[in-house]
Amino acid sequence: MWRDLAPIGRNTTTNGYRRYAWTAADTDCRAWFQAQTEARGLTYELDRNGNQWAWLGDPTAGDAVVTGSHLDSVPDGGAFDGPLGVVSSFAALDELRARGAHPTKPLAIVNFGDEEGARFGLACVGSRLTAGQLDKDRAHALRDADGVTLPQAMERAGYDPEAIGPDPERLARIGAFVELHIEQGRALDDTTDGKDTPVGVASAIWPHGRWRFDFHGEANHAGTTRLEDRRDPMLTYANTVLAARKKARTAGALATFGKVGVEPNGVNAIAGLVRGWLDSRAPDEETLAAVVGEIERAAVERGQRDGVDVRVTRESFTPVVEFAHDLRDQLSGLLGGVPVLPTGAGHDAGILSASVPTAMLFVRNPTGVSHSPAETAGEDDCLAGVAALAQVLEGLACH
Ligand SMILES: [Zn+2]
Repeated sequence: MWRDLAPIGRNTTTNGYRRYAWTAADTDCRAWFQAQTEARGLTYELDRNGNQWAWLGDPTAGDAVVTGSHLDSVPDGGAFDGPLGVVSSFAALDELRARGAHPTKPLAIVNFGDEEGARFGLACVGSRLTAGQLDKDRAHALRDADGVTLPQAMERAGYDPEAIGPDPERLARIGAFVELHIEQGRALDDTTDGKDTPVGVASAIWPHGRWRFDFHGEANHAGTTRLEDRRDPMLTYANTVLAARKKARTAGALATFGKVGVEPNGVNAIAGLVRGWLDSRAPDEETLAAVVGEIERAAVERGQRDGVDVRVTRESFTPVVEFAHDLRDQLSGLLGGVPVLPTGAGHDAGILSASVPTAMLFVRNPTGVSHSPAETAGEDDCLAGVAALAQVLEGLACH
């Protein structure tokens, strides 16, 4: 399975993956998922929001145990973020069948569409739509960098954009959702008590959000405009990036400007508009609100000195997610007391947790690097992840 997926959407220059929603690479990933489903004699379903499902047992029976993740990627992402969860799900199911396990509940594997939000700027679109956390109008207004709207992209890929929206009936079938994912930090690798810990269980997802900062100044000639006559939004932006780092460090939070747009974007032109996107995360919502508030205040203050008007728009926000404690403790018990750790990264499991009991398993990532081709996991650890997932599925679905 890993070899099949390896070449899809890989950029041969960077070795990173570019599997964006509703592109040719995405279509190839989806075809792979469907082929895996059919090769195992599972029931294939494509839901209204573009999520794919592979069912063992009656999809409508209720109290299903569902596992899975996503196959799309960030720009030049690694091979493991997402696909490890989907591949491990199929492998865990194979393991259960090889053992002759008899599930008493329906089991399903899901591939959630557009988890990373790389193309349209909003993460977890497939699960958000299904869970009713993103309405149709807002989804229809999403645009990619080339101005292609989500409905246009869906239509070009052969999907019906009019059908998207909440799907409570589908969620009501699920008794528990478990997502296996590569760890996006080094907590498992850092365990210093001498224990070998290839797998951990998630406790919570930090609250996080994305904010767009628009710095409006005045475009002008870089050679003829005196420094004192300039209204240069790049200065305000640069200062805000530094302030964000400082505020986050002081509060024990995270703040990142990782995307920026400049107009007119000329070497010999003072910028007229700088647009910077802030991603911020913190252990609790109060801290997050305080950090973002302070960054905004720092931007506005600096803007006054630079003659730059600052406007801030919150583009997305995901509250803190505490995974279902019963399910988390059950998993930890089934796996013999593995580490329990929080994460700063958002996941479909986090979106679903508002509607169904969800849990996550993390597989050790020795580099701790994520959203980059340097992300990695050892083969033994991946197999330990499959074994853990099989154990969890058996514990949840076969008794
Ligand atoms: Zn992921």
